Amino acid sequence: MPDCLFCGIASGEIPAKTVRESPLAIAFRDINPQAPTHVLVIPREHYANLAEIAAAGDGLLEDVASLAAQVAEDEGVAEGGYRVVFNTGPDAGQTVHHVHAHLLGGRPLEWPPG
Ligand code: 5GP
Ligand code: ZN
Repeated sequence: MPDCLFCGIASGEIPAKTVRESPLAIAFRDINPQAPTHVLVIPREHYANLAEIAAAGDGLLEDVASLAAQVAEDEGVAEGGYRVVFNTGPDAGQTVHHVHAHLLGGRPLEWPPG
């Protein structure tokens, strides 16, 4: 999709600190980390949000979730615990309209979130 920041990262046009990749998804560090581990996991293909990728029903969402779990292992937060968040829509503060999972960990995470 033209002018999509995360399509640009997926294609390599926009640089990012990639930590792990799969054939269908990429994990890279958030530019403004909110926790010691803050990694974004995206499908290479453009879907605007969780509903769209879920509706595609092709296993892609599972691939994104699996990559997040693998990164949690890599980062050493799997045992201590971590959070995976899909901000969806304006009330949740979604600012990039290419679906992404936030993987957060490495510190105690408040619940409920603010
Ligand atoms: P949202 O608010 O849409 O759920 O999350 C978008 C996330 O993308 C934010 O946490 C923001 O810090 C991150 N972000 C925005 N621009 C860039 C960028 O150019 N590179 C990277 N790595 N992360 C970005
Ligand atoms: Zn995109």
